[in-house]
Amino acid sequence: MNLPIAERVANIRQSDIRRYSAICAAMNGVNLSQGVCDQPAPDAVKDAAKQAIDHDQATYTNLRGIIELRRAIADKMRKFNAIDCDPETEIVVTVGSAGSFACAALATLNPSDECIIFSPYYSYHANLLNLFDIKVRFVDLTPPDWSYDVSQLEAAFTDRTRMILVNTPANPSGKVFSKAELSHITALANQHNVWIVTDEIYEYITYGKPHVSVASFPEARDRTLTMSGASKTYAVTGWRVGYTIGPADIIDRMSVVNDLLYICAPAPLQHGIAAGLGLPPTYYQQMCDDYLVKRDLLIETLRKIGFTPFVPEGSYYLLAEFEEGRWADATAATEAILDEVGVATVPGSAFYRNPSDGRRQLRFCYAKTMADLQDACERLSRLGKGRGATAPKLQQRGAATL
Ligand code: GLN
Repeated sequence: MNLPIAERVANIRQSDIRRYSAICAAMNGVNLSQGVCDQPAPDAVKDAAKQAIDHDQATYTNLRGIIELRRAIADKMRKFNAIDCDPETEIVVTVGSAGSFACAALATLNPSDECIIFSPYYSYHANLLNLFDIKVRFVDLTPPDWSYDVSQLEAAFTDRTRMILVNTPANPSGKVFSKAELSHITALANQHNVWIVTDEIYEYITYGKPHVSVASFPEARDRTLTMSGASKTYAVTGWRVGYTIGPADIIDRMSVVNDLLYICAPAPLQHGIAAGLGLPPTYYQQMCDDYLVKRDLLIETLRKIGFTPFVPEGSYYLLAEFEEGRWADATAATEAILDEVGVATVPGSAFYRNPSDGRRQLRFCYAKTMADLQDACERLSRLGKGRGATAPKLQQRGAATL
């Protein structure tokens, strides 16, 4: 049969993040590839969701999400993000923050409009925009501090630019944008009259440098859509509960898009997250302290085996570089490491506008239990020098299951 398919999907394929995660599962390896965050969720969150199921809170919710959750989000936004918002009109609960981004893009952008994204970037941001026929203009972040060139950012604005996306703390670099950088971005967004869309899903995971929300600046408030969600904060990446805060009229339109695409986020899980938002500040502090220990363990291990890790200021990923010639490129390195010691990573090239910028980098995720991370680090310590290594067994062992 030769049935037609849409042009927009002709060239899309599974992300490298998922690809190496799937091969790893088939090999029974340790997955530092996809940010699955396979750690236990807080009891308060699980108990409230179970109770909601027991009480048959099983039907569609309001297209903006249950009001209890929106009130809890508004409270958190005021206290943690320094943003005042009305839970009735300025919040929409979505199917993960990926759902937020889909709704935001559909509600604000037309085909052939342009969006500015910093590179290295989370591939889903750019690929979703591609799916909607939105043109992406990239601005480079340069390691080790992931700073950007002011003139490159200024030059990225054209008369088609309608949005700039800021992911802070950033996936995959772990960059936490400073207040000065965010003020500069805001000034440019005001000058060019474009939306600022922020992905703040790792907002609670920072290691000293404070997280700043752009929408806390009065001069950014009216043009900013702030996206976040429960996945990372409560280790429930598969629950798919996210949200966006923004001006009432665009939230109104996003809510209708949300309804058309997904109807609503899973009802009982919304109750679980509402309970999570009531957790005390010590919960978040403990989470950061734990990630700091894990980050440092991974960094120490990587240095010992000859990598140069770029120390992240936030998030639970890091990019690390290997020396020229150790493997042919990042894909060869990913496959050799998976093959040799059963640890999955993601080729750095998957995150750059010019894949060659990431050809000697790998992304490691450390959102693991301590036991799993230790296992991964012990395996990595057994890694050979790599030269000439290929991954002959990988195809036979895992890739065939994809
Ligand atoms: N955000 C996570 C990552 O970057 C999960 C991505 C995904 O599965 N789409 O690994």
